[in-house]
Parts: sequence; structure tokens; C-alpha cells
Amino acid sequence: MNAIILLGPPGAGKGTLAESLRDETDFIHVSTGDMLRAAIKAGSPIGPGAKVFMEKGELVPDPVILGIIKERIAQAAGDARFMFDGFPRTLEQAKLFDQLLTEIGGTLLKVVNMSVPDDMLIRRLSGRRICKACGAVYHMVNIPPKTEGICDNDGAELYQRPDDNEETVRNRLSVYKNQTAPLISYYREQDLILDVDASMTPGSTYAFTLEALNG
Ligand code: ADP
Repeated sequence: MNAIILLGPPGAGKGTLAESLRDETDFIHVSTGDMLRAAIKAGSPIGPGAKVFMEKGELVPDPVILGIIKERIAQAAGDARFMFDGFPRTLEQAKLFDQLLTEIGGTLLKVVNMSVPDDMLIRRLSGRRICKACGAVYHMVNIPPKTEGICDNDGAELYQRPDDNEETVRNRLSVYKNQTAPLISYYREQDLILDVDASMTPGSTYAFTLEALNG
């Protein structure tokens, strides 16, 4: 198993970049945030516990996250290539992931470090709207749908993620700084970091990252 990690604060565009990379490469996109939201929706046993943390913008406990990651990896072929979006998010998760890679003979190829100024992150997240049906992502100002509140693709209603309100967004940013940003030096010491300026347009961010990953 080979993997890359997309690392960056909420609103950096990890999901958007992952979707573009998935279309052009053979990486399997694994978003722990999406998996947790799906678990809640499906009424899985981890759902109610995870929901409490997510609504506050706090992190779901490491053992729960490692559990879903291991399960996901086990479902794929041994030579699968993964792109992790939103994992690892604590030093403990990074260390447990290193152990897991050793156990299964996997290799971490690169860690894409996406950076964006705070004021831009807050604007991106508080204006974000998502299609209830297909999951397409819009922004009320930057990427508005043709008709307000309605998805261009399928006419379904758009919604705001409950943790995208300004207060929770500020908490998510401070959680990122305290608990996730230390991973940048952890991976820089291992010479795995690829720095990306993610304040560019989605297209430019994608083009830059793809070229750097291939180069
Ligand atoms: P964002 O990166 O925009 O915050 P995500 O969808 O990746 O959005 O995550 C939403 C929430 O899911 C997080 O605030 C956290 O509560 C939970 N979560 C996702 N991934 C992890 C993780 N690796 N460890 C702990 N909690 C996580």
C-alpha cells in the first residue's frame, strides 16, 4: 500500500483537490470527515459519539479514527494507493499510522502541506454550501449556483454543514493550530513535505500539486 496525505486547515480545499486528483490518478480518496458523516447518517454505533465532537469542532478520539482507517485499508487490494484527506490529525494518529505502515509494509510517499491565510479560510467555510443529493460544493460568493440554494447538477437543495458556522469554524482553526499543525514539522523531519500555496484557485492549486507529485 502506498499513500499520500493531504494536510491543511479546514477550508484549505483538501476535498476539492482530492476530487481532482482522484479523477486523474489511481489514488483512492479517503476522507475521515466524510466517513464519519456517513457513519452518523447510517446510524452506525460510532455515529452518536462522533457527532458530539464534530458539532463542537473538536476532534473525534484517536482510537475511533484508527479503527475506521484500518477497516478501510483492509477493504482494498494490497497494492492500492490511498490519498488521505483529514487524516492523520494528531501526532498520536501520525505515530499509529507509521506503526500500521510498518505492519503492512506500506509506504508514505508525500505529505501535501496546504496553506491558506486565516481570514480566507473563515470566508471560504462560512460561505460554503453543499448539495444534499450529489455532495457538490458551492460558495455563496466565490462559486454560486445558478439559482440560489439549488444545485446546478440535479436541482436538489443546498445545505450548510452544521460545523461551518463562524463560531465552530474559529474553534476548528484553533484545534488545527494546536493539534494538527505540529504534524508539519514531524513530516518535514522525514523529508516528506510538499508545500502548496492553497490560496490559489482550485485549478491552479491542482495543477501545481499534480506537477510537483509527478516531478
Ligand atoms: P475540515 O477539514 O473542513 O474540518 P472534515 O470533514 O475533514 O472537515 O472534518 C470534520 C470533523 O470530523 C472534524 O472537525 C472532526 O470533528 C472530525 N474528524 C475528521 N477527521 C478526523 C480525524 N482524523 N481525527 C479526529 N477527528 C476527525
